[in-house]
Amino acid sequence: MKIIKTQSPKQKPIGKIKFGTVFTDHMFVAEYSKNEGWHNERIQPYQPFVLDPSSSIFHYGQGVFEGMKAYKNKAGEIMMFRPLENFKRMNSSNGRMMIPPIDEKKMLDGLVELVRLDQDWIPTGEGEYLYIRPAIFDCDAALGVHTATNYTFFIIMSPVGAYYANGLAPVRLFVEDFYVRASKGGTGHYKFIGNYAASLKASDKAEKAGYDQVLWLDAQHKKYVEEVGSMNIFFVKNGEVITPSLEGSILPGITRMSIIELLRHKGYKVSERLIEIEEIIQGIISGEVTECFGTGTAAVISPVGVIGYKGKDYALGDGKTTGKITMDAYQSLTDIQHGDAPDAFNWVYKV
Ligand SMILES: *Cc1c(COP(=O)(O)O)cnc(C)c1O
Repeated sequence: MKIIKTQSPKQKPIGKIKFGTVFTDHMFVAEYSKNEGWHNERIQPYQPFVLDPSSSIFHYGQGVFEGMKAYKNKAGEIMMFRPLENFKRMNSSNGRMMIPPIDEKKMLDGLVELVRLDQDWIPTGEGEYLYIRPAIFDCDAALGVHTATNYTFFIIMSPVGAYYANGLAPVRLFVEDFYVRASKGGTGHYKFIGNYAASLKASDKAEKAGYDQVLWLDAQHKKYVEEVGSMNIFFVKNGEVITPSLEGSILPGITRMSIIELLRHKGYKVSERLIEIEEIIQGIISGEVTECFGTGTAAVISPVGVIGYKGKDYALGDGKTTGKITMDAYQSLTDIQHGDAPDAFNWVYKV
């Protein structure tokens, strides 16, 4: 693979950085054309793309992305968590969006090279990491709705401060019962760029009402819990861990999948099933639903303190304390990720 190193390395940030605003010196790029397939894989200095205004990405949005991270363990080794799963999921997204499949192994090799080259950018403070963003966009310079014949794949990386600078902090969720994120047969099961554009209206509404994130319901009945902004959702009911089953409109999170496996391994009962929002609200009132948390790459586990539904707030416990099972899930998974606990599932990937 061709590696073009930067002649002018950037100053590394000091102090607190806002998520996703600072990028490392290099990026990985590959291009796709009908005749050559994916080709010209290379690492080059981080730089803008030059695109024709008619490029179809601007008009029709045929694009997908992924989110993952690299971090250092106590011994200073560089680690990633199940990185091949991200490239597999990207291919699942590609399939839905008519984007040609990538060679998962080859793209992972490219990422590994990139991480090694920019390894000095991996922050080493407690809970800090390098956020990795692979993405693909279509770049045919032509209007007219069609499946593109040219695509660009790239990976950029961004140093990120600790998600929880002051320990796990429970968030407030707003149950959205008008706007919907995804419907069966749609694109919600995939990391399709447009899903987020379509979610902004509801996020704005939730923020203005004093909540942190949206808790989405299913589009058809507005009855079943689906997921949170950028996280999957779990509840603890009568000691059992429950999470919505993947019915085609929920993003299949790698953290979700790992938490299910890990908690089962630890002896918890974990069920994937349809969960009515009414069941959750009634369960909080009766005391049967005791904990709630979201799962996603960035936060790993995000405890939920309050759920706002139809104008009322329902607090889990005192609304401010992270539940026991939530804490156990967080600690157990982060211990594996950082090499502080045996990696029984072979999830950790040493770069
Ligand atoms: C990425 C994402 C998640 C979490 O997936 P992870 O693989 O665990 O990071 C959940 N929901 C949505 C909508 C997402 O985009």
